[in-house]
Amino acid sequence: MNRPTEQAGAADCADVILRLFEYVDNESAPVDRERIHAHLEECGRCLAEYERDLLIKALVRRACACQPAPETLRAQILTRIVTTRVTVVEGGPDRS
Ligand SMILES: [Zn+2]
Repeated sequence: MNRPTEQAGAADCADVILRLFEYVDNESAPVDRERIHAHLEECGRCLAEYERDLLIKALVRRACACQPAPETLRAQILTRIVTTRVTVVEGGPDRS
């Protein structure tokens, strides 16, 4: 049992990912923020989730500054990000 934290870490991941929305929105309690922040420092997987949430939030904020984004809008934006990437790859360099 060299790594007794491993199981606790997995439980932390689920908890952190559940709370990322609040964290990104600055809506979580200070004690939670601290815990999530500490977890993101040492967990690349949750950090990636966090950065994706930040990116989506930035896009959503630009698209509609006044309302919280519904789940469908998130999905649409995610789809658009993927579509844009595919278009760029397939279109290749501009040949006129
Ligand atoms: Zn994690």
